[in-house]
Amino acid sequence: MKFDCIIIGSGLSAVWSAKFLNEKGFNTLLVTKEQIWDCNSFYAQGGVTIANDENDMPFHIEDTMKAGSFYNKKEAVEILSQSSLKLINELSNYGFRFDPGVTKEGAHCVPRVYHKGGDATGREIHRFMFKKDKSYLLDEAVVFDILIENNIAYGISVFHKNKKFNIYADNVIIASGGIGALYKYDTNAKTIAGEIQGIAVEKGIKLKDMEMTQFHPTVFIEMKFSQKLLLTEALRGEGAHIIDENSNRFLFEYDKRGELASRDIVSRAIFMHQQLGHKVFLDVSMFDEDYFKNRFPTIFNKLRDYDINVPKEKIPISPAFHYMMGGIEVDLNSKIPGFKNLYAVGEVSNTGVHGANRLASNSLLECFIFGKKAAQEIIKNSFKTEDKKFEINNEELFKKEDKKYKNILREQMWQNVGIIRNKKGLNEALDFIEQTIPKLARVAKLRFLTAREIVKSALAREVSLGAHYRKN
Ligand SMILES: Cc1cc2nc3c(=O)[nH]c(=O)nc-3n(C[C@H](O)[C@H](O)[C@H](O)COP(=O)(O)OP(=O)(O)OC[C@H]3O[C@@H](n4cnc5c(N)ncnc54)[C@H](O)[C@@H]3O)c2cc1C
Repeated sequence: MKFDCIIIGSGLSAVWSAKFLNEKGFNTLLVTKEQIWDCNSFYAQGGVTIANDENDMPFHIEDTMKAGSFYNKKEAVEILSQSSLKLINELSNYGFRFDPGVTKEGAHCVPRVYHKGGDATGREIHRFMFKKDKSYLLDEAVVFDILIENNIAYGISVFHKNKKFNIYADNVIIASGGIGALYKYDTNAKTIAGEIQGIAVEKGIKLKDMEMTQFHPTVFIEMKFSQKLLLTEALRGEGAHIIDENSNRFLFEYDKRGELASRDIVSRAIFMHQQLGHKVFLDVSMFDEDYFKNRFPTIFNKLRDYDINVPKEKIPISPAFHYMMGGIEVDLNSKIPGFKNLYAVGEVSNTGVHGANRLASNSLLECFIFGKKAAQEIIKNSFKTEDKKFEINNEELFKKEDKKYKNILREQMWQNVGIIRNKKGLNEALDFIEQTIPKLARVAKLRFLTAREIVKSALAREVSLGAHYRKN
């Protein structure tokens, strides 16, 4: 089996890159862990940021840089914002239209976030893209290795239907998303566990800014599933309040912007307030019931399932891990430096656009803009690999005891590598990870290698910056 391009993942960055490759006749294979919709793209709620016009561009850039503590790569942010101007037309020519009107989200100075199906933006975009997609698909397949020799990627190793095998290609795009499953509380799809970043560690592919992990401030965590329910930023953007058990809007004691401060500030404030013994809630009682039901149908239905009578009743919330700013370092064309035919797009990549913290709704935009760039670069380079066969990695892939260690890791990451970090806690997490790695089968080991990178980067950055907050 040999393809022009293999794409690891089935999220927006994967399917959007595939679109441009398929249009040029490249035969493309998408490989994904479970079903195509088991990805973060499917769960995105709030929307896609698009600069309103040329005049708004400098403000979008400024908002993005401010949220990222000016640690962003300015050139990448400029490309992001400039290219966003053409996106509405590009999507509409492809047949996709957003709901009318734009909304405002936290840390945006003006409304510029497009949504679809109310708060079902990700699901609507993903469903639309897959209806049009012409790629080959291998689902229920875990990628456990990338075949690399002399800085050339020859393909991947997968586990599918109880078999291990290699698939070969002229180009490989990594679109495998973030790392949610490494944390006890997270908003991510259950497939998002950071294994491919672990392969990067093994293969000497550079990971950058791995300490930059974003915690979303408003998550309903009282659910039986490991994936917790995100309560979109748009709720606060449109007027929801964060209160404690005394109905005190305590956020103003931490930042004058209150609910509209950036995510790291709001998450930290809630976390600190909880540490003082308070309970924290999202108050949505100012919304009319019909409006709420139509504008936020996913949230409305899920919370009603949990017997929370929204919008009248306040929603108990906590911060939870949400988004990985760090990842595989790429250039402005999504290519991994030093490799001839290896690319990374979407959340797994580090383009530099998010800096030390991501501005709300900039990540779907990044998937669109830099997903297309990867495809264009592959088309331009027309790289061909010589035919070569690789031995299959013979490590055991799964062990019964892995689950126990993965759960301890999730707890360690939440307690010691979470919203507020200190040297002692980080070292405790590092010791646990180092001692556990030799006990694990390959797939769990890859997750642990990724976790180790996060901890090491968090230890190395001794001063707080953006989402990375060091107490000592
Ligand atoms: C609840 C929620 C709401 C969000 N809301 C917004 C929003 O409103 N606006 C916004 O801009 N961003 C939002 N985000 C962030 C955004 O959705 C993601 O950053 C973006 O969708 C990532 O897309 P992706 O293509 O990089 O990865 P994903 O969509 O996460 O896809 C990753 C794919 O890789 C596959 N994969 C992973 N590991 C392996 C492996 N070992 N083998 C095979 N396949 C593998 C997965 O199965 C999955 O198909 C939200 C995220 C969440 C979780």
